[in-house]
Amino acid sequence: MTILLTNAWVLTLDDTLSEHNPGWVQIDGSTITGMGSGPPPSIAGAEIIDCGGDIVMPGMVNTHCHMGMSVFRGLAEDVDDRLYRYILPLERKFVTAEMVRIGSTLSAVEMIQGGVTTVADMYYFETEVAEVCDRAGLRAIVGQTLADFDPPDHKTFNQGFALVEDLVDRYRDHPLVTPSIAPHAPYSTGRAVMERIADWSLANPDVPVQMHLAESTLEVEWARKTHGQSTVAVTRDAGLLKPNLIAAHCLQLDDADITMMSEAQICVATNPRSNGKAGRGISPVEKMRNAGLPVGIGSDGAMSGNTLDLFSQFAPVSMFAKLLGGSRKPLPAVEVVRMATIEGARVLSLNLKTGSLEVGKQADLIRINLAAPRLHPIYDPYSLLVFAAMPSDVTHSMVAGRWLMRNRQLETLDPVGAVRDAVQIANSFKAEMRRIDESHDPA
Ligand SMILES: [Zn+2]
Repeated sequence: MTILLTNAWVLTLDDTLSEHNPGWVQIDGSTITGMGSGPPPSIAGAEIIDCGGDIVMPGMVNTHCHMGMSVFRGLAEDVDDRLYRYILPLERKFVTAEMVRIGSTLSAVEMIQGGVTTVADMYYFETEVAEVCDRAGLRAIVGQTLADFDPPDHKTFNQGFALVEDLVDRYRDHPLVTPSIAPHAPYSTGRAVMERIADWSLANPDVPVQMHLAESTLEVEWARKTHGQSTVAVTRDAGLLKPNLIAAHCLQLDDADITMMSEAQICVATNPRSNGKAGRGISPVEKMRNAGLPVGIGSDGAMSGNTLDLFSQFAPVSMFAKLLGGSRKPLPAVEVVRMATIEGARVLSLNLKTGSLEVGKQADLIRINLAAPRLHPIYDPYSLLVFAAMPSDVTHSMVAGRWLMRNRQLETLDPVGAVRDAVQIANSFKAEMRRIDESHDPA
């Protein structure tokens, strides 16, 4: 079955940023088979969709997420010790396979509605996340997290490795879902286990590694006190600084760290909203990109960044770069859109499949309606996307030639059921939080 999208403003995000306006895109099966300007070719039996001048562009790539955590969205927002007071106790008590499935489903709904077609996730009970992404039709990298703080799905690292092996066995050959191993962070994994993961990774080079890196001053202090070097150097010496590492956050870096990361050709996921809200600092995105590191944009979990679309990340990622540079010039809008699409795909080693609209690549695309007065007049479509567009302007979403959303109607998931299930979980969280408050501050 051929689909022809016609009368569209096609932003390809290819190497030369070519555009077709008005243009057309031809899709056969899962693949983009043709593209051009002006009227489309006539193809017998093709389904023709007139886009009415809307933008058609690559679906966005969310390079760092914890989908299961959307049930924590907005919880104890401004409480500084909320991680230890609420989050970790709630995770230990309530995080089950079912909770992860419910949280991940809500996240998948939100991401499809917000223009994300590929996500890199790391959390617990990750086979549940993989199942949700499979059902949703999202392209995904799903990472089983390993950590030493008594996480909800493993008591020992041996048990954690068994979960990784199970995930890899089940999803190694899946067309959309790529299994991944996800040491939580250097300080919560430890050098010896990082070395073990590095060895495992050598034997499984097709499995991406995801890890939080250089996220906080506490982590930097841990590395200096325990190992007498930077957290990036600890990671390098453990053997994990490699091209298949997707390092999230990367805030607390000096120039030597950036050189090490660039020599090792690792990939970075920056999470501006999450970092800004936590007061953790500003990631040196321009410096890293100038050093040749690919940098994608991540939402982080909804507990930290609240929303999982990338439009919400555009203003902070852009403003942080401009504030650091003290001028309007750093990180132009087009570069932000690149980071959200083709560069994000590069971060996940999926750039040969997705991230730009090119003949032969997978048909992962979104359509953005331009009816809102807020979007006019238009001098530059990239400025529009970064500073004026909203997730609700996305009307259609397609992954591998399959519609996930048409005219804002979801094709694969039930948004009403997703919200209802999440609210039920939140009710049990609220009751437990009252109990915690009473035990902290008895009347
Ligand atoms: Zn994270």
